[in-house]
Amino acid sequence: MTKHGVVVVPEDTVVGVAAGRHFSFPPPRTGDSCKMLAGQIDLGAAMMGSWLDSMKASSPRYKLVAPRVAAAGDAEQDDWMEKHPSALGEFESLVAAASGKQIVMFLDYDGTLSPIVEDPDSAVMTDEMREAVRSVAEHFPTAIVSGRGRDKVFNFVRLAELYYAGSHGMDIQGPTADSNHHLNTPSKGEKQARSVLCQPASEFLPMIGEVHDLLVEKMAVIPGAMVENNKFCLSVHFRCVDEKTWGTLAEQVRSVLREYPRLRLTQGRKVLEIRPVIKWDKGRALEFLLGALGFADRTDVFPIYIGDDRTDEDAFKVLRSRGQGAGILVTRFPKDTLASFSLRDPDEVKDLLRELVISKS
Ligand SMILES: [Mg+2]
Repeated sequence: MTKHGVVVVPEDTVVGVAAGRHFSFPPPRTGDSCKMLAGQIDLGAAMMGSWLDSMKASSPRYKLVAPRVAAAGDAEQDDWMEKHPSALGEFESLVAAASGKQIVMFLDYDGTLSPIVEDPDSAVMTDEMREAVRSVAEHFPTAIVSGRGRDKVFNFVRLAELYYAGSHGMDIQGPTADSNHHLNTPSKGEKQARSVLCQPASEFLPMIGEVHDLLVEKMAVIPGAMVENNKFCLSVHFRCVDEKTWGTLAEQVRSVLREYPRLRLTQGRKVLEIRPVIKWDKGRALEFLLGALGFADRTDVFPIYIGDDRTDEDAFKVLRSRGQGAGILVTRFPKDTLASFSLRDPDEVKDLLRELVISKS
């Protein structure tokens, strides 16, 4: 369990939030503890036992955290919720902290805007969620930040007025259509950001294609395994793979990657991710987009990042290092996280987006 949320009363703490509460908000700047968590995320050198443990821990099917919660009783859950309270429950505090600042919304897709489903190609979002995202984008610059390929996530979301950062932020494109918020006070930076295109890993495209083909070949003998080409990175989904085969699957993937030291292996919820060894992740994408919008060094910006996955921790980490905005983890169970708040599921994400729109109106 991280210690970030414990009894911190930062300078700008909203009156009424800190009193009697143990979570920290805005997030305190952090150092070594971030590195610790990052170390847990990057599993390139992990042993097989660790791989399996990690795969199980990230899988809701296993709910590895659940036994720990059950064993510890409600007290641990309560303690976790105290450190990472519901963003809906603390909504007034959130809005108060953002008052006078430009909110910029960052939304993960899978598990955040759409439920995790067995077939990743079927992870559609509801019309109600699309309407909620469309409404929020009318008021605030809004970006979708996903591990999926940008085209694929766009086809799910289908809102041209958003920013899209696909391939874990390695493929960024600005809106292809105006949203109302652009018409209110379009800054110079914002105008430029509309045409932004950032692809820091373009040199890796041929290698990614090659490894994709090798993995498809290897995974063909593992029932339920699915390889997804996300353009600048690859996903090996094990949502439908029998648990007894997970070890074999991980070993097969690692055997392919031994020949490709410039690629690294990380993992998310029921998925292994292969991506270039470059210093770029969802956190970098967040920083890039803030910069492109003209908010790089501004104190009057309030980025809100909502995500459910380990890869989203990179973005939560950036918010903590900036001491700015709010990271919100979508989860039903206590997890190690650098997020300040929590929401239980995509339905609650939708409610929060709607509340933000109402507060702005
Ligand atoms: Mg996700």
